[in-house]
Amino acid sequence: MAQPIKLRRDVRLAPFTTLGVGGKASLFLTARTEADVSAAVKLAIGEGIPLFVLGGGSNVLIADEGFNGLVLKIHIRGISVIDAMEGMVLIRANAGENWDDLVADCVRKDLAGIECLSGIPGLVGGTPIQNVGAYGQEVSETIRSVRCYDRHEGRVVPLTNEECGFAYRTSIFNTTHRGRYVVLSVDIALRQGGGPKIAYKDLKDRFADSRPTLDEVRETVLEIRRSKSMVIDGNDPNSKSAGSFFKNPIVEKYRLDELRAAFGEIPHFPFDGRVKIPAAWLIDKAGFPKGYVEGNAGISTKHNLALINRGKARANEMISLQERIRDAVRRKFDISLTPEPVFVGFDN
Ligand SMILES: Cc1cc2nc3c(=O)[nH]c(=O)nc-3n(C[C@H](O)[C@H](O)[C@H](O)COP(=O)(O)OP(=O)(O)OC[C@H]3O[C@@H](n4cnc5c(N)ncnc54)[C@H](O)[C@@H]3O)c2cc1C
Repeated sequence: MAQPIKLRRDVRLAPFTTLGVGGKASLFLTARTEADVSAAVKLAIGEGIPLFVLGGGSNVLIADEGFNGLVLKIHIRGISVIDAMEGMVLIRANAGENWDDLVADCVRKDLAGIECLSGIPGLVGGTPIQNVGAYGQEVSETIRSVRCYDRHEGRVVPLTNEECGFAYRTSIFNTTHRGRYVVLSVDIALRQGGGPKIAYKDLKDRFADSRPTLDEVRETVLEIRRSKSMVIDGNDPNSKSAGSFFKNPIVEKYRLDELRAAFGEIPHFPFDGRVKIPAAWLIDKAGFPKGYVEGNAGISTKHNLALINRGKARANEMISLQERIRDAVRRKFDISLTPEPVFVGFDN
């Protein structure tokens, strides 16, 4: 028999996020089953209130006023092997599983395909939303399909990799169909006994001509990430962040030439016929160095891209710091930075 859903009222959201800022949710529900998800969606429709899906809270900035509606915290657990053939293993991971635990487990079992995504905080269900990527790998390279609850249709639908529309830090989930789907599980195809992906410069330099194991690559990625405070660590104040606060801008080649003519050599990487410029470099040159402080908000002492809560920051302080950074980059380089985290409750 279906259990009645347990609604909570006026729940502080800051502790559910890695940035640790923001107010309360007027209603809060933990979904442990797919039935909880459909019940929550129906409840929100019935009450005429907005619904926000919360995973591990590692890519959100919650408003000081909180969220005037229902926050649905995903806690649907379970991982299973659903197919294995010709050296490929298809794993179904439910949305509420911890992403990095899944990576660690796959690396232990010699399953290749997500080893460079070690150390990314958050839950499995959050990974397709912005097509998480790091150290030369993106989750879309291994996602076969995503099972979702379609809030428009009121039913569970499978979406193929192509239907998810993955690109750099985007998918249909955070663009054309934002808010429509609740991710229930993700099917990932991994290579049994496959070699690690060594595409990123730091990894190429580290391993030169050697052939590292998946575990060696995972440990190296974790080591590099720790050196930049990009692994959540309660003892590291620099990791009280939402990770990279801005996407790396992608510009046409002629823009790069214009920028070089004005500013000299600029770090850049080829990207689908265009070039990607590190946002961290732009931010630094626009006058916001590592360790920059503005009240309770600041920039990590290890990484220009991570805006941090220095202890008691309010969301408004984080917002004004990111606005000042964007303005400065726009004024100096005529480039608009796009924030990576999702802003929640600011339109209450
Ligand atoms: C220290 C640090 C390092 C990071 N490093 C990286 C990195 O290297 N690469 C990278 O790409 N990202 C990185 N991130 C960002 C973040 O960890 C990822 O985007 C992560 O996948 C977000 O997952 P989450 O469960 O925390 O999602 P949340 O922060 O809870 O939610 C983010 C968005 O996804 C939606 N969402 C979450 N779960 C679901 C679901 N089940 N169904 C529908 N919508 C859902 C939410 O509604 C929200 O819009 C980093 C963050 C931190 C704090």
